[in-house]
Amino acid sequence: MIDFTIPDDIQQQRKLFEMVARDVMRPIARYYDEHEHEIPWEYVNRMWPLVKMEWAQRVTRAERQLAGEKKEKKEQKSGKRKYYPNLQLVHMVEMLCWGDAGLYLCTPGPALAGFAIDAAGTPEQKVRLLKRFAEGDPKWGAMAITEPGAGSDVSAISTTAVRDGDEWVINGEKIFITNGWLALEASDGLVVVWATVDKSAGRAGIKSFIVPAGTPGAKVTKREHKLGIRASDTAALVFEDCRIPLDNILGSPEVQRREDKRGFKAAMQTFDMSRPVVAAGAMGVARAAIEFVKEKLAEQGIDIPYGVPKHKLSAVQRDVLEMEAQYKMAWLLTVRAAVMTDERQPNALQASMAKVKAGKAVTWITQKAVEILGPLGYSTEYLAEKWMRDAKINDIFEGTGQINTLIVARRILGYSSRELK
Ligand SMILES: Cc1cc2nc3c(=O)[nH]c(=O)nc-3n(C[C@H](O)[C@H](O)[C@H](O)COP(=O)(O)OP(=O)(O)OC[C@H]3O[C@@H](n4cnc5c(N)ncnc54)[C@H](O)[C@@H]3O)c2cc1C
Repeated sequence: MIDFTIPDDIQQQRKLFEMVARDVMRPIARYYDEHEHEIPWEYVNRMWPLVKMEWAQRVTRAERQLAGEKKEKKEQKSGKRKYYPNLQLVHMVEMLCWGDAGLYLCTPGPALAGFAIDAAGTPEQKVRLLKRFAEGDPKWGAMAITEPGAGSDVSAISTTAVRDGDEWVINGEKIFITNGWLALEASDGLVVVWATVDKSAGRAGIKSFIVPAGTPGAKVTKREHKLGIRASDTAALVFEDCRIPLDNILGSPEVQRREDKRGFKAAMQTFDMSRPVVAAGAMGVARAAIEFVKEKLAEQGIDIPYGVPKHKLSAVQRDVLEMEAQYKMAWLLTVRAAVMTDERQPNALQASMAKVKAGKAVTWITQKAVEILGPLGYSTEYLAEKWMRDAKINDIFEGTGQINTLIVARRILGYSSRELK
């Protein structure tokens, strides 16, 4: 059974991140929206010690796993100590995106690359690759899937990885990569690159590879200008005869056309972890918009009554209640999907459900906020218009709303990706 009460340690953590969101992020949100491509060092330096601490703990756990220690598992089983990193994460992300979604995406750390390594990496890879995020100067990770000819249809990926002796040689182009520049050029980070080792094998031939910063042949060719989340770095990358060690492949190099659990499936599991996190970010933006609307209405003497029949409410009161209901639905789906990740339950359906609902809810809620606020909503004096611009990306990256709806439909109706396209 899933328990929706917030554990004490997560409550404490929420308080800490609320302070960061309110005191560090909100005051600089407009500046970095208007100064795209600048690194928000005020925020990065505030977060880096916390991020390092978190990853140091994760690396220690991976080291224990590597050493064959079963202690952690025993403790989980006996119910002595519960560890819910993904539940913690969605609460943190919701709070930070309440502060500012674009700045949140600049949080140093492995980001999506961390999920990929966690989902598909061996304990040795987890230790080796994630250690850099537990020490030294701020650094970033990125995950590069999208190409000019492959977005929703991942099987169309044309970036290649060819084995040459003790190395893989990567060639191809990736676009719209969050933190691509931060990972490769602004820090000693790394990028997880999805590439095919055998195009004729379709999805089964797709594997993910770690390309560390400083690898010859890996370069940034463009930094995007965007509608929203403008503080976030989005880059185009090119890999030209980019050579990486053989053990920088995540999972098995074998192409098993049927049940390829260590290859494409493992790579796709990244989304089961990351989609609830994207959904949580959307919820932070949505909550910011709802709170602001309520605050401005209260200044006009308009309160939102609860438990009152609909016909006794004004149109604007009904609107706000609907915004809150949409928020709550999406948030509960998000929490469920995150807890399922922590409990190692299959959650592809629930992760996509949360992502679809959250992407649509935040888009609608922030538009409604601008509508209700009128000129206040449209003016750059306040952040409401920015939240509306920041919201839409949640319906695009980590699988668009349409693609996640398709996944939900397939899972519920029992169709394969070949049967329902
Ligand atoms: C700011 C930003 C950051 C991003 N960050 C990353 C990143 O870090 N890493 C990364 O790899 N990618 C990233 N992306 C890329 C993003 O994941 C893709 O844009 C997204 O997956 C959609 O792919 P596409 O752009 O090729 O659109 P397409 O796949 O060409 O889709 C275009 C439209 O058609 C719809 N569509 C496609 N197929 C179907 C179907 N079968 N049924 C119904 N509708 C369909 C889509 O929903 C969409 O509305 C980012 C994009 C943006 C804008």
